[in-house]
Amino acid sequence: MTLYNSRMFFSWWRQRRRQKLLAEPFPVWWVPHLERNVGHYPRLTPPEQARLRDLTRILIAEKLWLARGGLLRVTEEMMVTIAAQAALLLLGADRGYFPRVKQVVVFPTEFRTPVAGDDWEDDFLSDIPHAGQAVDRGPVLLAWDEVLQEGRDPQAGFNVVVHEFAHQLDFVDGLALGTPPLGRRDLETRWKYVLAVAFADHRRAIREQHEPTFFTPPAAESEAEFFADATEAFYCRPRDLKALYPAIYELLAAYYRVDPLAWWGDTAADAVDHPNCIPI
Ligand SMILES: [Zn+2]
Repeated sequence: MTLYNSRMFFSWWRQRRRQKLLAEPFPVWWVPHLERNVGHYPRLTPPEQARLRDLTRILIAEKLWLARGGLLRVTEEMMVTIAAQAALLLLGADRGYFPRVKQVVVFPTEFRTPVAGDDWEDDFLSDIPHAGQAVDRGPVLLAWDEVLQEGRDPQAGFNVVVHEFAHQLDFVDGLALGTPPLGRRDLETRWKYVLAVAFADHRRAIREQHEPTFFTPPAAESEAEFFADATEAFYCRPRDLKALYPAIYELLAAYYRVDPLAWWGDTAADAVDHPNCIPI
């Protein structure tokens, strides 16, 4: 079999396996995990909920789930909670199932270093404690306590799963510049401009120690961090993001092809006062 043929066969086989998986009923005992731990889930429309359940099942089946840092095993609750939050990024657009992520590594709490001998480069990992980390062509590492807390309370404004999987989408073009492939040249050009202006504005605010800033201090480190932070804001603070940075909201809505503001309706917190933000 040629390389082309074997790829075709593998793709057909994988497609068939997915169809078989989705033909089975969704495990009913997973639903309470979605309802309790994934704050977005009850707010989605029924078709979105159905798609999220399908995406969740495929991500659980196709990733290798590893427990580290003293965690005995990755439970079904952990897998459902993590996979469903990652699936939020895939809800509107068909861009596969994070094909470059083979493993999801779960720690009980913040972690410093991975267990030696795993198949990712230790050089990529820092000594600073992390709640999450995304490695290009490698795993996503997550601290379960943070995942659970933020998953249950999306309106607190942060989501480590969304953040790390947004990095993985950004890695897809091999550049990690905060500019994932948007599929349209006009969108990509506009995104580069909007990102550059907002990123420079945020960097300046952090440098001059303005308080408060809308984006987090780590978002000032690089365009890639800014993109992941903006994605978190898009999913968890849509009203504020739209009010303060309408162009960013619009571009992220075009990329992810969802409108998170519709999920929160009138219950989203009113835009808070961020005097240092310059709407663009
Ligand atoms: Zn990051």
